[in-house]
Amino acid sequence: MYIKLVKYPDVFLRSESKTVSFPLDEKTKQLIKWMSKAMYQHNGIGLAAIQVGYQMRMFVMDINRTEEKPQVFINPKIIKKSKESLTDFEGCLSAPGKRGEVKRYIRITLKYQDEEGEEIVKTFYNLAARCIQHEIDHLEGKLCIDYEKGNYSRDKHKSQTVV
Ligand SMILES: [Zn+2]
Repeated sequence: MYIKLVKYPDVFLRSESKTVSFPLDEKTKQLIKWMSKAMYQHNGIGLAAIQVGYQMRMFVMDINRTEEKPQVFINPKIIKKSKESLTDFEGCLSAPGKRGEVKRYIRITLKYQDEEGEEIVKTFYNLAARCIQHEIDHLEGKLCIDYEKGNYSRDKHKSQTVV
């Protein structure tokens, strides 16, 4: 079954996602499976709940595209970041054909919960760090295509954030 994603310029992508409570209910567990399926179907390396229509603070990631079991991140929070950052182009499954030039920290330490609610603290580098920062932006209603020359520009797509 083909899963449709929420796409730019849908204002839904501009909403802020809400904290996920534990234990997860059946619906949320199903949603996580659904998100993984959607990510592989669309050949992405990460996908946030909001991209399939749910304002929940969680995303899945599989930067190696193992097509097996993606990592699940719930209620993620960056607690440490590197001084060094790198500007590079990023695309988004919710904005096909577009890209943004985005400055990201090359190393981040993330605190998040797994599907059991277990709290995990882990450090990520390079592509994984970039992908996580991209997905966390989704939870805040930000998109990579909002960035200009590395920096976030709130005004770039302002017309559609005013509701
Ligand atoms: Zn995206």
